[in-house]
Amino acid sequence: MKMKTAILIATTMVITTLSFSSCGNKPAEGCQAQQGEQPWIVDRFDDIKVLRYEVPGFENLPLNQKLLVYYLAQATKCGRDILFDQNFKYNLTVRRALEQIYTAYEGDKESADWKAMEKYLKKVWFANGIHHHYSNDKFRPEFSREWFAQQVDKYAKELPIEKSLLLDIIFDENLYAVRLNQTDGVDMVTESACNYYEGVTMAEVEKFYAEMIDENDPRPISYGLNSKLVKDNEGNIVERVWKMGGMYSAAIEKIVFWLEKAAQVADEPQKSIINALVNYYRTGDLREFDRYNVLWVGDNSSNIDFVNGFIEDYGDPLGRKASWEGTVNFMDSLACRRTQIIAANAQWFEDNAPINPAFRKKEVKGVSAKVITVAMLGGDCYPATPIGINLPNADWIRKEYGSKSVTIDNITYAYSKAAQGNGFNEEFMLREEDRARIKEHGKLGDDLHTDLHECLGHGSGQLAPGVKGGELKSYTSTLEETRADLFGLYYLGDPKMVEIGLIPSLDVAKAQYATYIMNGMMTQFSRIELGKNVEESHMRNRKLIAEWCYEKGKKDNVIEWVKQDGKSYIVVNDFEALRKLFGELLFEVQRIKSTGDYEAGRKLVEDYAVKIDYDLHKEVLERYGNLGIEPYSGFVNPDYELIEKDGEIVDVKLIAKSDYIEQMMHYSKEWSFLPSIN
Ligand code: ZN
Repeated sequence: MKMKTAILIATTMVITTLSFSSCGNKPAEGCQAQQGEQPWIVDRFDDIKVLRYEVPGFENLPLNQKLLVYYLAQATKCGRDILFDQNFKYNLTVRRALEQIYTAYEGDKESADWKAMEKYLKKVWFANGIHHHYSNDKFRPEFSREWFAQQVDKYAKELPIEKSLLLDIIFDENLYAVRLNQTDGVDMVTESACNYYEGVTMAEVEKFYAEMIDENDPRPISYGLNSKLVKDNEGNIVERVWKMGGMYSAAIEKIVFWLEKAAQVADEPQKSIINALVNYYRTGDLREFDRYNVLWVGDNSSNIDFVNGFIEDYGDPLGRKASWEGTVNFMDSLACRRTQIIAANAQWFEDNAPINPAFRKKEVKGVSAKVITVAMLGGDCYPATPIGINLPNADWIRKEYGSKSVTIDNITYAYSKAAQGNGFNEEFMLREEDRARIKEHGKLGDDLHTDLHECLGHGSGQLAPGVKGGELKSYTSTLEETRADLFGLYYLGDPKMVEIGLIPSLDVAKAQYATYIMNGMMTQFSRIELGKNVEESHMRNRKLIAEWCYEKGKKDNVIEWVKQDGKSYIVVNDFEALRKLFGELLFEVQRIKSTGDYEAGRKLVEDYAVKIDYDLHKEVLERYGNLGIEPYSGFVNPDYELIEKDGEIVDVKLIAKSDYIEQMMHYSKEWSFLPSIN
């Protein structure tokens, strides 16, 4: 599971000084010169800005750890094509045609068509395909079909599909219109353009996997996680497994090549962990993936860590197939104080959670809480990046072995630097006292909410006997994110937080509460096209929480809409009452999860999380548009270079990169291994 909230949270803050500085590894204010005085924002287009991140502390790692980062980083770059293909089966075809034209074009680069195509290509790179990474809607090209057809004739003659089909894919707005369609009542499989199923209906998929699942297995296999489900020539439904020798083999072979290099320089237990992952990639055996995850989650001592594989199922309308992703990171040891305190008190938080005692974990296991510095992002973590990750996802492993939870400090740091002085809070936050609290405590409130969400929220609670975990179907991830967010919100306002030294005062919670409610009921709509519903699960969860609390607290005026000078503002009047409401909703959402109450879960999501008031939406978009802030952010990676002397590797050099187009073209040229059609 990942937390992607920073994309918006970071833009809600105006930070003049970093109020929280226990993270000693951050580059100090005034020390930026050694980083080369680069801007934090390296590119902006459409609704997106691209930032860079620093990797403080890399230079100080010992050589073998630098090498391990290097090899794992190489492996992280190898899976980019896989994600493109998973997102939509013609994505690689479209990307390559665009890149060929982009490289070879000799016409007028000041023309509107050219500029629009360049923007479109930048968006395709950012989304790893032709559908928006958040809204899932197909991009609308702003260059003409005729102009593009001419460029294809000139510069991209060798297409793997008919030219007319390529043009329809890009220009016909009804064809493959949404990547992920989770509308209640539709065939989500045939109505989604993502490439996890082909030639099968939703009913066929559900039947296929229902027959596979062993209801009595206490350690159920994540069936379907690493394959595409198709009909073969005889009409049989079969899985095309993503493994060496299977689908995506050419990319997986490269991943394995670099992982094996990494294993050679890794110490135990990491060597065995990497080897287990390699074995999984070789066999495609999901039991082997579980074995790898058990080993991986048990390793809390290695300084370098990584994620590499088919991990998150957000891109599958049925929540079964996992997209490929990768990260490499190392521990930000000086910055871990915050999460160590949380971890040390994990059982107290669980025992006091406002949920039915039957659904509390008797013993909270393996809450590993780390603050990390990422060194490389790949696949579904690139360029749009989570700010926290909690893995593995298999419920039984989490229950028996715990989970690893990290917050990514150099990413949130870059977000906060890039958001300085953007005018957001002045526009949307009505009261000066709220703005002042956010200015002083916003970053700490965000960080702690992320920590609590990841370290405790996802790891908390337990299912009732007999409940397997798949009962909530397409509402699973929204409700799980809701639960984790509520856990974090509820405890952020607990006096215990002050007592154990995590926050100086409950003003930190007030800052976060005001921001959260405003975001959930209003400002996050800036990222949604007018007239559309909320689709993405984290956005749904925030709206659900805010709207539910608004409605339930209405009689006591806990949260209030205020109109001033023709503008709408949402204000929190009673923070203590709001915290109680968070607790009440957590009680209910935990009950829904623990008992697998699909109907109640569905109703909660559909009633509170999906529909946006048209006039409010319009107003938010206008006000947000006037600020000139892009609602989405992502990152370019640094690069790493081996330094050799007399035939021996003596160092690994970190190279800061700050050009988006250059990086994308480089990856497409040097780190692209799959055929256009897979
Ligand atoms: Zn989460």
